[in-house]
Amino acid sequence: MPELPEVEVTRASLADRLQGAQVRGVRLGKPLRWPLGVAPEQLHGRQAGTLLRRGKYLWLPLAGSDPAADATPGAGLLLHLGMSGSLNLADTPGEPGPHDHFELHTSRGTLRLTDPRRFGAVVWSDALQADPAAKLLANLGAEPFDPAFTPLQLHAALRGRRTPIKAALLAGDVVVGAGNIYVSEALHRAGIDPRTRCGSLSRPRCERLLAALRLTLARAIDLGGSTLRDFKDAHGMAGAFQDEALVYGREGQTCARCGGTIRRIVQAQRSTYFCGGCQRR
Ligand SMILES: [Zn+2]
Repeated sequence: MPELPEVEVTRASLADRLQGAQVRGVRLGKPLRWPLGVAPEQLHGRQAGTLLRRGKYLWLPLAGSDPAADATPGAGLLLHLGMSGSLNLADTPGEPGPHDHFELHTSRGTLRLTDPRRFGAVVWSDALQADPAAKLLANLGAEPFDPAFTPLQLHAALRGRRTPIKAALLAGDVVVGAGNIYVSEALHRAGIDPRTRCGSLSRPRCERLLAALRLTLARAIDLGGSTLRDFKDAHGMAGAFQDEALVYGREGQTCARCGGTIRRIVQAQRSTYFCGGCQRR
């Protein structure tokens, strides 16, 4: 499923090209996770602003062509790639296929959401701070790259919690965007056993963990995301992160750092990979 790096790669690949694009039409396919929430005609003539990311959501501001007459100048579309979605912007996109469920025809080409499993969403909101966008974004944790998010805050957020650190990171309410692969890799990089209770992590270990999470996610973004589930960014570039994974998917192999053996356990129905040698509780 697309995780934060994939969504960020998508955002970076689309932002410049979409900025200033004028909407000429909308085509809807089969229903997605939530309805669009606006009559498609109401998007006509609107102009795209800067594409933003919050967690795994993308926000495309769409301002009216006449600012004086625009009742919702901060309006836009909130997009989510769900389990299997990908976004593509093309000048000549060709006929929509059976899995193409949303198209925004613009002066800069057609933005198309391809989503076989249809857990993705494109939702209109009068503002990023208004519902439904505000409601959907309300419970998200901190952005991992936000410089205002410090190890001290991570430590405070984990204090007193008895859940294993891996589950807490996956839940996304402390820090967003760390899915199964990246959490496994970041915990290995930080030398932390995934079963460690949140509340028992010291401040220095929280510092190592946040640094490891940032390094892991940054590396994945550099590599164009992971290709585990056919992820392709808007240029059709496949990621290579999975080739660099040190623990994920490597059960029984030797740890490159300590020579220990990579183990696989199941936590909350998800596979966890870790090294019993260099990851401590
Ligand atoms: Zn090791």
